[in-house]
Amino acid sequence: MRKVKFVSMFVLLALLLSVTAPNGAAQANSGIGKIRWLTYTDSRYGFSIEYPANWHVTPRDDRGVGGTVSFNSPNDPLKVEVGLYLAERTTATSLKEWTDQYDAAANAAAAFEPTEIQIKLERFVRVDGQTALRREGVSPLTEFKYTNVPWGKTVWFIWTNSDDARAATYDHMVASFRFGKNTPATLQEAYGSDFQPLQLDCGTKIMPEQISRQPSDFATLASDPAGHRLPFIGYRPISTGPGCYYTHQGQSYEAIDYSMPVGTPVLASFSGWIGWHGWVSGGWGNLLTIHHGSDYVSWYAHLNSFRANMWSGQGVSTGCLQAYSGNTGDTTGAHLHFEVRLNDWSVWIRTLPTTVWDSGDPNNPCQPPGYYDGYATGPTSPCYP
Ligand SMILES: [Zn+2]
Repeated sequence: MRKVKFVSMFVLLALLLSVTAPNGAAQANSGIGKIRWLTYTDSRYGFSIEYPANWHVTPRDDRGVGGTVSFNSPNDPLKVEVGLYLAERTTATSLKEWTDQYDAAANAAAAFEPTEIQIKLERFVRVDGQTALRREGVSPLTEFKYTNVPWGKTVWFIWTNSDDARAATYDHMVASFRFGKNTPATLQEAYGSDFQPLQLDCGTKIMPEQISRQPSDFATLASDPAGHRLPFIGYRPISTGPGCYYTHQGQSYEAIDYSMPVGTPVLASFSGWIGWHGWVSGGWGNLLTIHHGSDYVSWYAHLNSFRANMWSGQGVSTGCLQAYSGNTGDTTGAHLHFEVRLNDWSVWIRTLPTTVWDSGDPNNPCQPPGYYDGYATGPTSPCYP
């Protein structure tokens, strides 16, 4: 007991010491006044970044790959996220070329039309001695700014949904970002020697030759209309969905948001094959798509992280663990955004078997935002450990 107290005092002392006074120049330029800054140091990847002392920090979920650390304002949906892209860059490709390739693949996967993402500003900035690429723009989901920072073969993103008026906080955070001695310079260093980096030329377009390269049991993963299930274990309240208190607008209005804590296992709702898995800067956060047959694609957005050893074109079975839910991208709380698209257009999920959308309460599947029902245990999947 005594030892525990001693340790916690030590932690407290370390926290106090890590409160750094705003750097005079940054303060004068930003006009953000007397914000008190704390320093977050990532225990696994060694990077550090300053953030306002009154903000909430959601650490990565270390069970998967590609997780982000999220820094959230207590007063509004303003947030800053730091993460590692799951695609690598070779020295033959410039950071700008790589970013263009990555964004093209991610935006295609997110079914953004090329005209829907507008980059208003692009410039190079210095971050921890590296030449980094900063972009600012708008998507149909949110305003965004991101800074891509190269480190060996890896590229790190510092993303925000901040508008220009509050950009000073983001600017300060980017300027304070530092890599550590143990920061991985390759994705295999980060995720293990069998990790397969995301290939940017795959996108969501799965070529027949990719499919034919899949495991021999791929034939058994063919579309199985009766085999659909909820993309998680048990029941979760719907916070946003058709007929509920809030509905999605525009293209994804048939999507359903299921409230769940960060780190909840997300399962394949149908058999199929992996399309995209990775960060999408336009507001989707970490996005997973799974293709079913030739036309249907299921979407799982705002994820915290993905399971290891996932690749585009890989076959997956209904109910198998694919990712962990999160609060990434343009969100105001932890949830899983789930939708099914037919030819890039979201379909009314209620036309699919009811287990896909049913929250567990047939009389009222809609619950107020933030409502939790105690996480009743439902059927488990044989492939969930
Ligand atoms: Zn949603």
